[in-house]
Amino acid sequence: MQIPGNIDPVTVPRAASVREDGRAELVGLTKDQIRAELEHAGLDPRGAKLRAKQIWHWIYNRGVSDFSAMTDIAKAQHGWLAERFAISRPTVVEAQVSTDGTRKWLLRSDDGQDFEMVFIPDADRGTLCVSSQVGCTLNCRFCHTGTMRLVRNLTPAEIVGQVMLARDSLGEWPSGEDGRMLTNIVMMGMGEPLYNFEAVRDALKIVMDGDGLALSKRRITLSTSGVVPMMERAGREIGVNLAVSLHAVTKEVRDEIVPINRKYGLEELLQACADYPGANNARRITFEYVMLKDKNDSDDDARELVRLIRKYKLPAKVNLIPFNPWPGAAYECSDPDRIRRFSEIVFAGGISAPVRTPRGRDIDAACGQLKTSSERKTRAELDRLAEEKQAALG
Ligand code: SAH
Ligand code: SF4
Repeated sequence: MQIPGNIDPVTVPRAASVREDGRAELVGLTKDQIRAELEHAGLDPRGAKLRAKQIWHWIYNRGVSDFSAMTDIAKAQHGWLAERFAISRPTVVEAQVSTDGTRKWLLRSDDGQDFEMVFIPDADRGTLCVSSQVGCTLNCRFCHTGTMRLVRNLTPAEIVGQVMLARDSLGEWPSGEDGRMLTNIVMMGMGEPLYNFEAVRDALKIVMDGDGLALSKRRITLSTSGVVPMMERAGREIGVNLAVSLHAVTKEVRDEIVPINRKYGLEELLQACADYPGANNARRITFEYVMLKDKNDSDDDARELVRLIRKYKLPAKVNLIPFNPWPGAAYECSDPDRIRRFSEIVFAGGISAPVRTPRGRDIDAACGQLKTSSERKTRAELDRLAEEKQAALG
């Protein structure tokens, strides 16, 4: 009921997620949002602005997660801050290292959700494969993550938190120095990033911020299975490199293996690629193509791929990914000779089509193998789940 003469207070939605222990999480907030949180807790506007700037610096440039280490903030205020705010990382449940140096972490959120993150070291770069969701609402037939029932969007804190955790593990604080191992980020872990657009955008903005984690947008790639209505916005508002999980060149096959194709078809998807802001010959769109035996790997498929890329005049390169098997998967990987032949045809069409070497297979860290071990299912359960998810897609 409104009290005459009074104006009802307007509830302002808070940007910070409040943790189970009641503290507000500061990771994943912009500097301005941190300032607003500090004001909300009672600091005056000038003090809040200064503190926000200092705290931001400690979080993103120094990797500090304990207020008592913030030496330019008065000691007397450390306890006050620590009671109200947290600077956290996802909890590490398990960390594994592959014989090829690839590392995988099983992570847990504050509310007990499990997700994974992978680091792939190469001679000239180190790539962190970041998750955007716990599980995935889509159900690509060759992808283990797609068989997870439980799905929740990760928050910006949990997405940025993965990058910060990787920096912790690699001993790479402070930010902005040369010679670091972690040089590239791919949004290719669990989940469909364009189904969690705002959180992914806000997280990547912090990752790209020159005052924040300071990774160049040229070193960040977002991979989508083809959420056409969000692609233009992704280009405009995030501006990172685009990768598209194409995997098939006919409606029939793509409908089967990448079911979102029933909603947004091939031609629509390729048109959205042609319209993607910022793509050009220097910044090509990557088409990912998983090689599935007798499914999508014929000479005709390779020629059709070239024809489609030319038809839409796409500045494109193709990544041929040997299928990584998982228990219960319905496909096999194409033979090495077949993959080589496919690659040659695409190359002959003037399009780069390297074959990717699978990494971290021995620890289930390779593309499409991510699925928390707490969630293994039988083939019959997988089929039932696939039907449910496809029915939901309409
Ligand atoms: N959801 C997004 C990003 C995560 S998947 C997307 O689909 O693009 C990252 C890449 O791994 C995608 O190209 C995906 O199709 C591919 N992939 C999934 N399962 C795979 C498997 N079993 N073997 C090889 N690649 C796979
Ligand atoms: Fe989801 Fe990508 Fe796996 Fe498809 S390939 S189920 S979109 S994570």
